[in-house]
Amino acid sequence: MIWPPFAGRAAPGEDGAVTENGAVTAGRPAAAAPASGQVPAWARGVAAVAVLTGAGISTDSGIPDFRGPQGLWTKNPAAEKLSTYQVYMTDPEVRRRSWRARLEHPAWAAQPNPAHRALARLAASAIDTQVITQNIDELHQRAGTPPERVIELHGTMFGVVCTGCGDRTAMADALARVRAGEDDPPCAGSRLTMTRLAPAPAATAVVRDPIGQAVPRIADQVLAANPG
Ligand SMILES: [Zn+2]
Repeated sequence: MIWPPFAGRAAPGEDGAVTENGAVTAGRPAAAAPASGQVPAWARGVAAVAVLTGAGISTDSGIPDFRGPQGLWTKNPAAEKLSTYQVYMTDPEVRRRSWRARLEHPAWAAQPNPAHRALARLAASAIDTQVITQNIDELHQRAGTPPERVIELHGTMFGVVCTGCGDRTAMADALARVRAGEDDPPCAGSRLTMTRLAPAPAATAVVRDPIGQAVPRIADQVLAANPG
């Protein structure tokens, strides 16, 4: 999680972490944690907050991350190779394994942790809050952040989409079919492969720019490379 991605209108130099344009360097260690009740300079006047979260925010809920010391891909590098869309589409054995993994996913039993709840408190305040997450576990929404305030970059594990006709159904229904013996359940309408609900394949670029400085340049580059 990048925090804090934005600073408010703290005067430049008022706080060591605040840069000229009012941004706070992401990932900077909290040199001196403010005493209870004390508000750091950068936090004053904050009107809008965008937070980018990844697997790390859900490890305290019991969901392993991918690249951490206990990460799924750290412990099993082959698993990362199996996570590509192409392999999923072309290898039925990978799909069978994926469905079994979905059945046993730790997120089904996971509960939001204090970090998810803290962001929900922000979202419930007057501060304009947007959570952008790489996670598919919906723990932000279950903690109380309104769904329209959560952008799920990698989709959600609570939905299923047909790769052929685009039909969307509930993951629970698909998993019931897996439990009943269909190890790679196809779409009921098209008989084609189904997969976890994910953003449209056309969304191939994610701009990661916590302080917004590079956004205009990146936007121009994307527009220039994709005219019309
Ligand atoms: Zn279909």
